[in-house]
Amino acid sequence: MTATRELATGFDTGGVIHLNGNSLGPPRESLVAELERVVSGQWARRQVQGWFEDGWLDLPRTVGDKLGTLLGAAPGQVVVAGETTSSTLFNAMVAACRLRERPDLLVDADSFPTDLYIAASVAKLLNRQLVVKSGHEFDAYLAERGTRVTAAVAAPVDFRTGRRRDIGSLTALARRAGAVSVWDLSHAAGVLPCDLDAHDVDLAVGCGYKYLGGGPGAPAFLYLAARLRSTVDFPLAGWHGHARPFAMVPEFEPAPDVDRARTGTPPLLSLIGLDHALDPLVETGIHALRERSRALGESFLDHLGERRPDLLRELVSPRDAESRGAHLALRVPDAERAERVLAERGVLVDHRHPDLIRFAFAPLYVTHDQVRRAVDALSHAVEGAR
Ligand SMILES: *Cc1c(COP(=O)(O)O)cnc(C)c1O
Repeated sequence: MTATRELATGFDTGGVIHLNGNSLGPPRESLVAELERVVSGQWARRQVQGWFEDGWLDLPRTVGDKLGTLLGAAPGQVVVAGETTSSTLFNAMVAACRLRERPDLLVDADSFPTDLYIAASVAKLLNRQLVVKSGHEFDAYLAERGTRVTAAVAAPVDFRTGRRRDIGSLTALARRAGAVSVWDLSHAAGVLPCDLDAHDVDLAVGCGYKYLGGGPGAPAFLYLAARLRSTVDFPLAGWHGHARPFAMVPEFEPAPDVDRARTGTPPLLSLIGLDHALDPLVETGIHALRERSRALGESFLDHLGERRPDLLRELVSPRDAESRGAHLALRVPDAERAERVLAERGVLVDHRHPDLIRFAFAPLYVTHDQVRRAVDALSHAVEGAR
């Protein structure tokens, strides 16, 4: 049923087909009314008191718990501190290194660039050796030299190809070696079950504005396993991470729970945007979201196979849907031009240098009809390049 039924409506897509993989999709139509409720109903009326009387101060935790239901995390382990994914990765990676006095910081070579840059910076700061390995070599390093590894950083979905990495087996491998696991869930949150608690993940970080739909610059989230909450030592020790922020004492005493990952005053309106975006995702449930985006991706490939088998042969993502996240990538001549031509036809995708275009299938606002139209547009766009 879920595979063919069109899911939620209620998105203001501006008439555009959004398959961009996946930086910023459309807002819900109800977002403006929600912001109006907060701006006019709370901010204007209560002003500074809103932090206490309207629950604003608790939002990093309440939004975190809501998000936790999509990530397989019991309450009290996810916080939306108000930072970017990059600064949250920094916080998580330094905290992970502080848990183990070991020489190597291991990071997946196919990681998103910011993850590689932050890992390099953390290694330099803490005087660790940065070890960058891809795919099987990453696993082999953990298996063979894992006792050297302080933290292992990877993503369950490759940001270019959509190829999946199994959270369960890789976390188990890290655990056996005594290394701390740090996952970047940016391309998985909201489209793929992550089962963080069940897999005994230590730390995870993810982006708020991709499949979660939190809006431009929506804050990132951080997951901290409950068993680590009293020992983990975050470097961004700001007053909102204090056990008693309003005591205003000179010494930092970390909050006894995941609140210790908070930093300073959160961007309230962005948190409201993320909170509002999460409702239909949570209501649909992560398994139905996954099924839906998988069906959309399959529909894309089936239609492409009928129209343009030559392009289907240029798929750089796994053909098996189980092995992919919610996006896929094709190799096309002059990908930058193809992206532009598709945009002129109202289809938003993105190219990755030098010759990839990515197509992402967000379950709530992409339809099967749009997918067919996108394939037709792609067929024209790439015709022109030949
Ligand atoms: C999008 C993305 C980011 C974004 O980082 P920001 O600091 O929020 O800009 C980080 N990591 C991954 C894997 C991403 O996909």
